[in-house]
Amino acid sequence: MPKSYTYVVSACLVGFATRYDGRSNFVAAVARLYNLGLCLPVCPECLGGLAVPRLPCEICVDKILRRDGCDVTAAFGLGAKLALKLALESRARIAILKSRSPSCGFGAIYDGTFSKKLVPGSGLFARKLLEHGLSIFTEENFS
Ligand code: SF4
Repeated sequence: MPKSYTYVVSACLVGFATRYDGRSNFVAAVARLYNLGLCLPVCPECLGGLAVPRLPCEICVDKILRRDGCDVTAAFGLGAKLALKLALESRARIAILKSRSPSCGFGAIYDGTFSKKLVPGSGLFARKLLEHGLSIFTEENFS
């Protein structure tokens, strides 16, 4: 049986360099939970086969587009599905996710124009976790 965790977290928050630009979004308070063995880190975009680094992507109505216009909806969908499977297997009931990401963002995401404008909404992975009843926080509001 897979190991149980209290939290599922965006991998980039604990220091994995999975961001589109090849960097992490390290947050010390989240990394502390990881170092205590309480967190399962996942990166839906990497699980979906997207490269690091990669061009930024945004949700555009019902598709996910890369900045060059390439439709990457299928890769995002696969990644969200695989990350959800891992999260459910871990039995975590709380998620701490990276804000504003088209996969992990919760409550506000970029509007699809690549102009840094935010609109209400959540990323694909966050939506799936919510559908399965997890409590979701971002690195900006979890503590
Ligand atoms: S998909 Fe989520 S975990 Fe992966 S780099 Fe983006 S915000 Fe971080």
